Amino acid sequence: MKTHVKALVVGGGAVGTSIAYHLARAGWQDVMLLERDELTSGSTWHAAGLLPLFNMGYATSHIHDYSVKFYKTLEEETGLNAGFSVVGNLRMAQTQDRMDEYMLYAATAESVGIPVEWMTPAEIKARWPLVRTEDLKGAIYHPTDGYINPADVTMAMAKGARQRGVLIERKWQVDGYHWTGSEWQVSVTKMVEQGGNLVPSEETAIITAEHVVTATGNHAQRTARLLGIKIPAIPVEHQYIVTEPDPALVDWRKAGNPEHPVLRDADAKWYVREERGGWILGPYERNAPARFLYDVPESFRADLFPLDLERIEEEYMSMIHRIPTSETVGLKDDYNGPICYTPDGNPLVGPAPGLRNMWLAEGFSFGITAAGGTGYYLAQMMVEGEAEIDMASLDPKRYGPWVTTEYAARKNEECYEHVFILHHPDEEREACRPLRTAPAYDRQRAIGAQFGCVNGWERPNFYGPKDAPTGFDHDTRSFRRGGWWEHARAEAEAIRNAAGLIDATAFAKHLVRGPGATEFLDRFTTNKLPKVGRINLTYALTGAGTVRTEYTIVRLAENEYYLVSAGAWAAYDGDHLLKSAEDFMAAGGGYIDIHDVTTQWGVFAIAGPKSRDVLKELVKDADPDTVLGNKRFPWLSMRNIELGMCPVRAIRVAYTGELGWELHHPIEMQTYLWDQLMRAGEQHGLKPVGARAQNWLRQEKSYRAFGTELGRDATPLEAGLDRFVDLDKDFTGKDRMQATGLRAACVTLLIDGPADADPWGREALLLNGEKIGRLTSGGYSVAFGKQIGMGYVRPDLTAVGTRLKVRMFRELWDAVVVEDSPHDPTNARIRQDG
Ligand SMILES: Cc1cc2nc3c(=O)[nH]c(=O)nc-3n(C[C@H](O)[C@H](O)[C@H](O)COP(=O)(O)OP(=O)(O)OC[C@H]3O[C@@H](n4cnc5c(N)ncnc54)[C@H](O)[C@@H]3O)c2cc1C
Repeated sequence: MKTHVKALVVGGGAVGTSIAYHLARAGWQDVMLLERDELTSGSTWHAAGLLPLFNMGYATSHIHDYSVKFYKTLEEETGLNAGFSVVGNLRMAQTQDRMDEYMLYAATAESVGIPVEWMTPAEIKARWPLVRTEDLKGAIYHPTDGYINPADVTMAMAKGARQRGVLIERKWQVDGYHWTGSEWQVSVTKMVEQGGNLVPSEETAIITAEHVVTATGNHAQRTARLLGIKIPAIPVEHQYIVTEPDPALVDWRKAGNPEHPVLRDADAKWYVREERGGWILGPYERNAPARFLYDVPESFRADLFPLDLERIEEEYMSMIHRIPTSETVGLKDDYNGPICYTPDGNPLVGPAPGLRNMWLAEGFSFGITAAGGTGYYLAQMMVEGEAEIDMASLDPKRYGPWVTTEYAARKNEECYEHVFILHHPDEEREACRPLRTAPAYDRQRAIGAQFGCVNGWERPNFYGPKDAPTGFDHDTRSFRRGGWWEHARAEAEAIRNAAGLIDATAFAKHLVRGPGATEFLDRFTTNKLPKVGRINLTYALTGAGTVRTEYTIVRLAENEYYLVSAGAWAAYDGDHLLKSAEDFMAAGGGYIDIHDVTTQWGVFAIAGPKSRDVLKELVKDADPDTVLGNKRFPWLSMRNIELGMCPVRAIRVAYTGELGWELHHPIEMQTYLWDQLMRAGEQHGLKPVGARAQNWLRQEKSYRAFGTELGRDATPLEAGLDRFVDLDKDFTGKDRMQATGLRAACVTLLIDGPADADPWGREALLLNGEKIGRLTSGGYSVAFGKQIGMGYVRPDLTAVGTRLKVRMFRELWDAVVVEDSPHDPTNARIRQDG
């Protein structure tokens, strides 16, 4: 066996095989794949092989779209037929809410370029008379997907990989990883058959690899242990049953009719497809248990769990309701296998936390569908430095070190059960909550806060009725304007007219200091560094010149900086910051000390024309009248102030575009500060405000948000952030950023939309019927009394007044490009003195 390679892929399921194939296709010549047993012997062999394009995520939709197109090309390349049946996929809706969900999904599909069609119940009945349709509202139909043979497509990719020079070694198990500082030394053991089991032999070896990719499926917990990291990928039981031939179906096919599409009755939580004259029913039932929380037992090879028919009775009965002829056919076969999940259902793809040249591809629940695209985009990341799409929503570091086995297991069970729930964009899932709470949580809850979950933190989304019944948030969700909408509007108005108090404790916070800190940060970020006591907004870029992280940097002292970034991305940002600083020091830069101080500091943001008046009630100073005035405390500066007995690092910024401050305070004094602010605010109309109103308000100021406008698929110049990019200095990613040019440009739009809905930030933008961009954010503007959105358009369409169309609920609505920061464009309100 070869013992020195450029890239070692661990795991020969659909995912690992595709990665090996795509690394070779992207030009890496020295790639080896190791599989402890046989190729496909993990979850891949027993998958039902469905390839659903339907997916609510932008990056994942791209991944699935690539797979479906790629699998169609494999036979020509390898001569192997993977059994791709392009029968289409009919997703039925029993309710109007479900149709709304499909229409929102169709917005993403349109942005990605995935074709969909709409069908009425009568049209379904006319084409597929075996399906009962009286209780349906309609359906969305994907004509280009279907199902494939999972083992065959894996073998075809393996053949394609071998043809491109990849070495595939079976019966070798990886048992240890050691990073030498420049490469990985991977300990491997030859596995042998013994009484039907697969056991380690005496034969071992060390393989040296520049890069390692793990795609170990159900063995992810063992991989995590070997690497000393957390990987919240734990499988859940998933079963499907195969019926005997259904005579009605057999007759239908004998009459020359085409195969049924894959049928999905989302409200009944199942998929059904034809299988040799019978049906395969795959339910996503309640109470499917997580398995292999710590490891896969040695005795479990290509094995299955016993069928639990009782658990899927409801779904079984509903299949009979939908396809009445299936009632009398018996069961022929059943499969109950482990299917890997993660707490949010997206796989974990990308660099491993804290490690160099170690890439994860774990936690795939739709791994046959995702394998092709994952291989393609991960190979781009490894070979070229970045993928052409923003892979952050799949990045393993979206989970921090706070994640435990218990959390992952319970969340993954929830995620499985939620596969077919209504995926409201304002959905907040309940399992494992509350977990990370700031001290003010109970006080906020007592006055009606309805919380969202950001990186495990509870953060108020909006404040509902004080005595709201349990489940208020859940029951008021909608694809249009949910029950929270009026509350958010009142909160947004409070900030525009008086004052609002936002809990922003979840912000990621890092302290960067030491002799090398200034030089490092100057190269690491795009903007000029602030002077001591001042702050700036700045960007760390990827090697490809796109946005990796948005930072607010506060300069505390000559060589001491406080970095604030998005709360959802604490581990993701911290990992990049630490690795970049290590590189800087390794290249001879001065010493830098970095601390994640996220959990030490609470943050309240107070904003609105009355915010200074509220703070004046509390501030202790020799001259309280001037301490918050423009002279002593100008916009974009930091001062250490005292509010009552609480020492506060106050930063004069407001993400809502009004006069305001962020009040960073010792976390243990949070309830004291909350009480003081709420009491002082009473006479000034101070209202607690949640994240939803804040999201609307920031769009009126054209403030880009990380994860929507800002990500690894756009440079800061494309994002229209030129004023935060200092072209007179050198910084990481500068050359690539400049060479990229403007592929698209970020704009703000006011929209005359439907009376009962706002855009969510997924909708396509059109001009003369042609797609010319997409929204990345959307909401309602209280300042303009209509819908607002931000997004990317063709660079020639940014002129103020450009009239476009946005598609919402299958109709086109007028949208007009407005100047950046349409509310208070001169920032006069933010700079207001007093
Ligand atoms: C009943 C059922 C039906 C499903 N239906 C579908 C479907 O219709 N469509 C769909 O897209 N998905 C489906 N899935 C999910 C799909 O099976 C998985 O997402 C997919 O197979 C995951 O592929 P993988 O390569 O990540 O993992 P696996 O196929 O599990 O492969 C991982 C491989 O890594 C090897 N390995 C692990 N550790 C080591 C080590 N240390 N050294 C060497 N090798 C190692 C294992 O032996 C294994 O072969 C289904 C799953 C189940 C259970």
